[in-house]
Amino acid sequence: MTYPWAAIAASAWDTIIERWTTPCPLTGCWFWTGAISRGGKHPRSKRRKPNVPYPSVYVPGGWAVGLRGGVRGPTFVAVATGRYVEGMVFDHRCRHSLCMNPGHMANVTPAQNSSMATTRRL
Ligand SMILES: [Zn+2]
Repeated sequence: MTYPWAAIAASAWDTIIERWTTPCPLTGCWFWTGAISRGGKHPRSKRRKPNVPYPSVYVPGGWAVGLRGGVRGPTFVAVATGRYVEGMVFDHRCRHSLCMNPGHMANVTPAQNSSMATTRRL
């Protein structure tokens, strides 16, 4: 599956990161300051706390290609930076669920993702 809004996301990347994230000098994270969603589609929500907050990224013009509502942060980062891999979970290695730094994320298998024991959250 490819996302029909991938090209839009890629072109809007710089603007969105500039406008809606703030860098953390301690962790190097790019913390999301925009809209937040909780639970739902988060890949860790079934096994752990269901109320993990994550960025809900509005893709400008996404409505034109059928996108309804916001996109989960890591999904947006993966698609916008061309690192989306079907069947893999793009997730934080820094364990900050509101981080948008692509250098802090990697593709892991769903099994790898759910087996990670500890998660730090904001
Ligand atoms: Zn981070």
